[in-house]
Amino acid sequence: MVASEIRALFAVASRPEVVSLAGGMPYVTALPLDVVGELVSDLVARRGPVALQYGSAQGDPHLREQICEVMRLEGIEASPDDVVATVGSQQALDLITRIFIDPGDVVLAEGPSYVGALGTFAAYQAKVVHIAMDDQGLIPESLAQTIYALRAAGSRIKFLYTIPTFHNPGGVTLNAARRQQVLDICQRAGILIVEDNPYGLLGFDGEPMRTLRADNSDGVVYLGSFSKTLAPGFRVGWALAPHAIRDKLVLAMESAVLSHSAFTQLAVGQYLATQPWREQIKSFRELYRERRDAMLTSLESLMPPGVTWTRPGGGFFVWATLPDGLDSKAILPRAVAERVAFVPGTGFFSDGSGARHMRLSFCYPKPNRIREGVRRLAGVIEQEIQL
Ligand code: PMP
Repeated sequence: MVASEIRALFAVASRPEVVSLAGGMPYVTALPLDVVGELVSDLVARRGPVALQYGSAQGDPHLREQICEVMRLEGIEASPDDVVATVGSQQALDLITRIFIDPGDVVLAEGPSYVGALGTFAAYQAKVVHIAMDDQGLIPESLAQTIYALRAAGSRIKFLYTIPTFHNPGGVTLNAARRQQVLDICQRAGILIVEDNPYGLLGFDGEPMRTLRADNSDGVVYLGSFSKTLAPGFRVGWALAPHAIRDKLVLAMESAVLSHSAFTQLAVGQYLATQPWREQIKSFRELYRERRDAMLTSLESLMPPGVTWTRPGGGFFVWATLPDGLDSKAILPRAVAERVAFVPGTGFFSDGSGARHMRLSFCYPKPNRIREGVRRLAGVIEQEIQL
């Protein structure tokens, strides 16, 4: 286990004079905090003996019903019995990896991929093999070729880990045709898909995308989270899995933490039962859309030629690519000296590649700060190009 690149950055990036385009913190300030406060205190007053007690390892049954209602928004029909409530989707990732991985087993993942997942895979000594992406997401031909080559070399592939919608850090979404191809390829090869979807409901245009899990209930383990649609502080996420895997998840959950916090599960359940949560998600979408627009228009007007970036239709992140020869990690200290922070691309690959890339998040700073951050960053990159 090694410290993530992002963690080391947080201390610097949280200084008030620095515009942080680094962390992916949801803008929880936009929540009706007084309402959440009342709800929590009411929960303790009315249901304290349950909320403060141990709970079931699978998670609160009523919350699991509500989770099924949330998943229906993205085409998933599921039974609460197949859901395991976890400590954020991060714990679901940990448990899935714990169940499936023996040291040396292969996990396929997009390149780049979510840094927290890569850390978990590394902790269990999985070998991550990256699959190429473009602006339409993971490239199916690359997936098929990689599976073929790995199998020919005798590798044991345990699962494909993918973030099809509003990718972290890629900022791209797997298109509908490719979704079917990815499902077909994995089904033919007998490879499980772990679909990580914390941003799916935070799309800026149109209806939510249909999830992979909506079209295959046997071959997909789906991970969801309330971290971005409500608040990460509750640490409530979930896994939806076929029965045999669900059973192992419950056992792994027991051995990890006995049971999830009944208190935060019931608080989330109470929020969903009593508050207009769909409207809250809509207002988050509008807030993040405005920030995405601020980032894209300022990148467009300020970045020197040769820098390119993705145009996310939702989520929190833009993935930028520097001209050949530039190294984002080398640039970071100079950027911080100019009071702007980002995450260098190398943290999102398990093989040390990604030096020309950087992740820019637009979720937390307000639009005028985003514009100022991009202005500072563009100035630093301009200087680097001239060196
Ligand atoms: N998956 C992805 C792709 C993420 O971006 C995150 C949070 N940054 C997580 C999982 C974990 O989220 P949580 O544990 O808060 O649900």
